[in-house]
Amino acid sequence: MGHAYTYRCEHCGFQENFNQGHGFLVHSQLVKDYLNNRKQIFHYKTHNLLRKLSDKHTDLFVKAGFQIYKCPKCKTLYDKREVTVYCDEEVLHKSEFRCTECRSRLKLTNIHRLKKAICPKCRNRTFHRDLTQKELWD
Ligand SMILES: [Zn+2]
Ligand SMILES: [Zn+2]
Repeated sequence: MGHAYTYRCEHCGFQENFNQGHGFLVHSQLVKDYLNNRKQIFHYKTHNLLRKLSDKHTDLFVKAGFQIYKCPKCKTLYDKREVTVYCDEEVLHKSEFRCTECRSRLKLTNIHRLKKAICPKCRNRTFHRDLTQKELWD
């Protein structure tokens, strides 16, 4: 289950939704279950990585969900499908994302504390969370 957060720019009216949490297809599961599923829900690179890792390790577990990231330079927001692969307690792989504009490594952000961000359209610091629109999805 997850939340959708709406941000709206006071300056230009631009609106964007960000998802956070675990959805219907994007949840924790055994890698071999995922690979048997035949439904490719991850990015092809992640998919190939899971396949490769499962050749070497048996009890792999994958955790995936939407997380909200922020570019430390541009201060723009992104929601990304974060994937973590575990073998027992050891993390074998964790997704990393880069800003599409400046290529900086994105930082995981806590949306509950983030009230303001930079509008991706007009670049003003008037991108606010719209608290009147809060949605649940699963
Ligand atoms: Zn704007
Ligand atoms: Zn950036």
